Amino acid sequence: MLLQNDGDFIEIFLGGEHDEKKMTFGWQDGPPGEMAYCSPEKSLTSLIPQLRQTPYQHAQECLGRSPTTPGKSAHSARQRYDSGIRPSFNSIIAFAFFAPSMTMLKTPAQFQLLLHPQESANPLSFIFRGDELLVRTADLSLPDAAISASLEINDGDIHPLGLLGQRYCRTAWVAKDAEAPAGHAYTKLRALFGEMDDDLLGVAGRAFQVAEWARSHKYCGTCATPMKLAAGERCFKCPACGMVAYPRISPAMMVLIKKGEHILLAKHVASPTARYVPLAGFLEAGESIEEAIHREVFEEVGLKVTNLRYFGSQSWPFPHSLMIAFTAEYVSGDIVQDQNEIADAQWFGPGNPIPDYPVGVSVSGALVDAHRPK
Ligand SMILES: [Zn+2]
Repeated sequence: MLLQNDGDFIEIFLGGEHDEKKMTFGWQDGPPGEMAYCSPEKSLTSLIPQLRQTPYQHAQECLGRSPTTPGKSAHSARQRYDSGIRPSFNSIIAFAFFAPSMTMLKTPAQFQLLLHPQESANPLSFIFRGDELLVRTADLSLPDAAISASLEINDGDIHPLGLLGQRYCRTAWVAKDAEAPAGHAYTKLRALFGEMDDDLLGVAGRAFQVAEWARSHKYCGTCATPMKLAAGERCFKCPACGMVAYPRISPAMMVLIKKGEHILLAKHVASPTARYVPLAGFLEAGESIEEAIHREVFEEVGLKVTNLRYFGSQSWPFPHSLMIAFTAEYVSGDIVQDQNEIADAQWFGPGNPIPDYPVGVSVSGALVDAHRPK
């Protein structure tokens, strides 16, 4: 398939400062600059070796950066590009960055789920205090085996996650008042976006949800008996009354409404970022995703929409959402804002700059970027 915004691809800018041509490339086995097709299965991981060899490395050198994790560097490069900074070169392949869809929070391709603990001298330990992950302050790496052991976490509070390549991954939680070991800090997961290695961050989102499930289901919610792990699935089962508890996943819809060349974005009253984002909301019990979209759009901005098209989904571990994103076409109505939810909702068209919109690892950013009026 020809690359679309919802596939894995990079964008490469050819030419110098005043002669810029934007081209979208997929990556096959050919040399850089060759127009290519790319399958959606092609993962970020499979592209990295090629990116490191050629234009990506070149772009890094030209930007005065040392090679670092692809996600981080690409994100920085993207921000520089968006802020109007253009490297000036005479050579081709002046600048490269990953499209937002590549930096979305997602499970790394080489991750394999495990339900049973493995013996490992050097596991990747994701240790949470509330929604904060324990990391080494020097390089945001995970604590080593000796540091993890020094925390004296009960075996029952440590859960297997899977394998990342050959490394065994496990997750655990500590008390809210636990102190971080020297040289380490408990850091909000969200603050690590764009800073931590993308693959580790992808597993960390999963690790947090498993740790939170284990922490909050030590006892049966019906009869208060201590829960036991069920066999063959990630599930707690009450030995007294049989109640089962799986990790909670809360589906939420997101929708970008299009009206001709305009898109609707809103600033939410409760948003910590005050960014303009597509409309979003949680599903009510008994609702389909489509029903939730029609209900939320009408409740929040008073509009009717049609022609819903699936865009993509993303696990959003704050604390356990699954964000399912769509586009929709405007049908009728004038914007009437729900004062409790929406601080400001506006149509943005060609030539209307969006003051602040999400970038980086969120499906929200990818959704806006794929449909941003030029
Ligand atoms: Zn029970």
